Amino acid sequence: MDVVKKAAAAAEEEEVHGVVIVGGGLCGLATALALHRKGMGSLVVERSEALRVGGVALNVHANGWRALEELGLADGLRKTANLITSVRMVRQIQGKNQTTVSSPRKEIRCLRRKDVMEALAKSVPAHTIRYGCRIVAVDEDPGTDCTVLTMADGSTIKAKVNKCY
Ligand SMILES: Cc1cc2nc3c(=O)[nH]c(=O)nc-3n(C[C@H](O)[C@H](O)[C@H](O)COP(=O)(O)OP(=O)(O)OC[C@H]3O[C@@H](n4cnc5c(N)ncnc54)[C@H](O)[C@@H]3O)c2cc1C
Repeated sequence: MDVVKKAAAAAEEEEVHGVVIVGGGLCGLATALALHRKGMGSLVVERSEALRVGGVALNVHANGWRALEELGLADGLRKTANLITSVRMVRQIQGKNQTTVSSPRKEIRCLRRKDVMEALAKSVPAHTIRYGCRIVAVDEDPGTDCTVLTMADGSTIKAKVNKCY
């Protein structure tokens, strides 16, 4: 077998990706979608067996809507989000409740967490998210300069883009 064939066979044996994102929560999926919109693929590894759509509501402020606009999800999510028109803050000062009521100056909407999770998951390319995949170790491979992610079953995935904190 020549050198090129040997390298191809080795690459087939070990799974190598450009970018691997650990955790298919809001941040992981938003990162995968942002990369996709820039033309870069990624693999999201999520330890749960399915999309984690639990939870209730998220209050998304103007900066959050800007992020959702960049991701191309804002218009769709606005349809099911409730616009907050009045904010009632209750503070305890020396044991007494002090209430202030104000109108938000910028857009705040209350979104169902499930809607955001589903919109993110639907917008990334098929096979981007791998469920039931718990990462137990992240190491650098000195030989290749790749990051090696070890799964609970002992198998490994390599990421060419080195880890960021
Ligand atoms: C089920 C749930 C319900 C929530 N409900 C609300 C709510 O109602 N209102 C509100 O304001 N906020 C809620 N939150 C919090 C809000 O959604 C968080 O601020 C937000 O989820 C943070 O996003 P994240 O991606 O950083 O973390 P997370 O959403 O926690 O995502 C991290 C993901 O990484 C996965 N993971 C962790 N370790 C590993 C590993 N070793 N290998 C592989 N995968 C791994 C986890 O399973 C998880 O899916 C909820 C969070 C969750 C997880």
